[in-house]
Amino acid sequence: MKVIVKKYGGTSVSSVTKIKNIAKKVVEDATRNSIVVVLSAMGKTTDQLVSLANRCTKNPDMRDYDLLVSSGEQVSISLLSMSIKDLGRDSVAYTGWQAGIRTNNSHSSARIIDINAKKIKKDLKENKIVIVAGFQGINNGSITTLGRGGSDTSAVAIAAALKAAECQIFTDVDGVYTTDPRVCSKAKKVDQMTYEEMLEMSGLGSKVLQLRSVEFASKYNVPVRVMHAHNSGSGTLIKKEEKSVEDALITGIAFTKDESEIMIRGVKDSPGIAASILGPIGDADIEVDMIVQNVGSDGLADFTFTVSRKDFNKAIQVIEKNKKKMNFSDVSATKNIVKVSLIGVGMRSHAGIAGQMFSCLARKKINIRMISTSEIKISVVIDQKNLENAVKALHNEFKLERK
Ligand code: ADP
Ligand code: ASP
Ligand code: MG
Repeated sequence: MKVIVKKYGGTSVSSVTKIKNIAKKVVEDATRNSIVVVLSAMGKTTDQLVSLANRCTKNPDMRDYDLLVSSGEQVSISLLSMSIKDLGRDSVAYTGWQAGIRTNNSHSSARIIDINAKKIKKDLKENKIVIVAGFQGINNGSITTLGRGGSDTSAVAIAAALKAAECQIFTDVDGVYTTDPRVCSKAKKVDQMTYEEMLEMSGLGSKVLQLRSVEFASKYNVPVRVMHAHNSGSGTLIKKEEKSVEDALITGIAFTKDESEIMIRGVKDSPGIAASILGPIGDADIEVDMIVQNVGSDGLADFTFTVSRKDFNKAIQVIEKNKKKMNFSDVSATKNIVKVSLIGVGMRSHAGIAGQMFSCLARKKINIRMISTSEIKISVVIDQKNLENAVKALHNEFKLERK
């Protein structure tokens, strides 16, 4: 029998009725395959736990935090196991540590180091349906969590450890769309995608899969299928690049609203200036995304870069603290920007995509603040107020619309 890992997200297990429904589907599939189910917490449980923590303290001890927020998954796995047994099939539910998921000690964003899948393999041999709590693992006796959306990564990592035939990610949409269907109603489901494309989609803001889950899938070559938890359909299959997949020019449009922009004006244009600005920013553990430097005729330069909004205040503090060393005339900053990205492996073999993207935005009178490109993506930073317009215009320009 083939091993299949099935992960169900929060909205898909938000009620007992939905859990019982999933139990039925899983029991049915278990007549053909060996099944491991990975679950998220019910509905908005994790958000509620995070807000409880915030009400107690602004600065929780991260071990306590992980102990708290990992509890949601323990509820959903127990309920599914009970529901499966109620249908006459044997099952066993494990928390992350019981399932042998070992992580590093970066509480709240831990990385999986290894999975000792002996127990799961034995259970599957004994014809049990195995249920594992997503989003969590263990480090040195302490429960850790894998970052928001981390159950996707738990599922793919377990699939890799078991050499599963497929990792199925069940959610509230029928697959990966050309862009977030919540923003563009004409978004279309994509049938197949490469790991590379999905890495860019996730990395550039499409939260349908946690970025790390795609990294894992790509590294261990785990086929991942994103599909609707309660409707039928074949979903989106994400796998290694093959000739046929290459045909699509643009696969999708991703965007992120988590950006902020800092412009440092009037810095002396001399060697080492970028290092003197970005050095202290990096030392403060702040990740810089895009960077632009404009040199004026007076020998002074403007240095602009983006950081995640959560790091915005910290970055401004670092700049103020290092003002003398950085030697600039003034600094301006805005949080009202977004990054929109076009993604597609077809870009490799087609010139002119960037030009077409910029002309399209120009026709819509959308100003581009910054640009960055890689082999298979082009990203632009624009004002937040233009986000929806830009996504819809690009979606139309590159003919991604549903027929
Ligand atoms: P789950 O709780 O099942 O993990 P998520 O909320 O994490 O579900 O992911 C599903 C959501 O991702 C969808 O409801 C959709 O709004 C959003 N999303 C963002 N970009 C995309 C995209 N390109 N394709 C499909 N869904 C997307
Ligand atoms: N329950 C966790 C969260 O809400 C993990 C997940 O759903 O993937 O982030
Ligand atoms: Mg998710």
